[in-house]
Amino acid sequence: GKPVFKNFPMVPKVVFGKGSYEQLAEIIKPQRKSKAPFVFIVDDVFKESNEVIDKIPLNFNDKILYVSADEEPKTKQIDEIVQNLKSEFNYTPSGIIGIGGGSILDVTKAVSIMLTNPGNARDYQGWDLVKKKAVYHVGIPTISGTGSEVSRTTVLTGPTKKLGINSDFTPFDQVILDPDLTIGVPKDQWFYTGMDCFIHCVESLNGTFLNAFSESYGEKAYDLCKEIFVENKISEEEKRGKLMMASWHGGMSIAYSQVGIAHAMSYGLSYVLGTKHGIGNCIVFNQLEKYYGEDVVLFKEMVERFDITIPKNVCGNLSEIQMNTMIDVALGLVPLWENALGKDWESIMTRDVLKALYLKM
Ligand code: NAD
Ligand code: ZN
Repeated sequence: GKPVFKNFPMVPKVVFGKGSYEQLAEIIKPQRKSKAPFVFIVDDVFKESNEVIDKIPLNFNDKILYVSADEEPKTKQIDEIVQNLKSEFNYTPSGIIGIGGGSILDVTKAVSIMLTNPGNARDYQGWDLVKKKAVYHVGIPTISGTGSEVSRTTVLTGPTKKLGINSDFTPFDQVILDPDLTIGVPKDQWFYTGMDCFIHCVESLNGTFLNAFSESYGEKAYDLCKEIFVENKISEEEKRGKLMMASWHGGMSIAYSQVGIAHAMSYGLSYVLGTKHGIGNCIVFNQLEKYYGEDVVLFKEMVERFDITIPKNVCGNLSEIQMNTMIDVALGLVPLWENALGKDWESIMTRDVLKALYLKM
């Protein structure tokens, strides 16, 4: 039949620049509805940070909600936050503003969706299950790499699966990109989340779904990553700005294609062991030379250059049940495998091949 092309929503408003976070008050002001608060969902790592907290423009009954990023977002956690907001306030909030990394941005998107849609967050894991427009939501990343600031998904771990809420209502209404917010990121985490972006590009550029749209964004992000992590000749300040834009472009690239093997396998690790996304991708990608050749060689160079530790032997002590679950979760991500290996992926990536790969990690 006729091909069906995705009609892709984009973030309609974005501010970029060092110090642009200071404009938050004037940016959200026109969105305020009488009696309806703004809720700021903030990574609890900033609890003591004057730089971040003091600049939050609290007025009337606005609220700051600190959320930990120690564990990745869960559907149950979203339901609880939404329940609490509904019992605390008589009015649906004017807006939800997320300040943090991919975890906090995803919580923000999911909460804004669940405030206007009935049922539980787990009911919406999948594609295009959301029927009603979300509450106005703003994303302010404080670490660069996931692309969550531009993406059409919010990745959640639910009772039976780790899967995003992919919908036209998921993307932010407004994003504020202030590279200075990433100043305090610890080096290892900077690297892991930065590599999430690098891996988005590699998987998109080497996938069978590649097209000129994805390629143009993917190549730009890939080059920016090389400037930052391989050539390493620019100042820290330039790196912050460029990595923020690499994350953005990497997210745009996969929006119109897909990720691949590292992501599928990393989801398996995350589901069974709770391994976080950035580090999980690194653990997997480190062993994917057969599939992503030169880029894995380059990755290993970057690991060495920045003296990063990639955990080893993470799957050595898995029970048979755990290993099977990990394989089930990974193989369940059909579009990722199809993108990586083509229509015949099932004959290439058998359970045995996958198990052998996991055992190397
Ligand atoms: P994160 O949000 O989990 O944060 C990682 C760590 O860095 C946390 O300890 C956090 O407190 C800390 N941190 C963040 N900003 C900081 C700062 N400025 N100073 C000091 N510490 C800081 O990390 P992440 O890698 O950005 O996000 C991972 C999450 O993103 C996963 O849950 C993953 O599923 C999700 N993700 C979503 C998408 C999407 O399109 N929605 C894409 C990729 C990944
Ligand atoms: Zn990713």
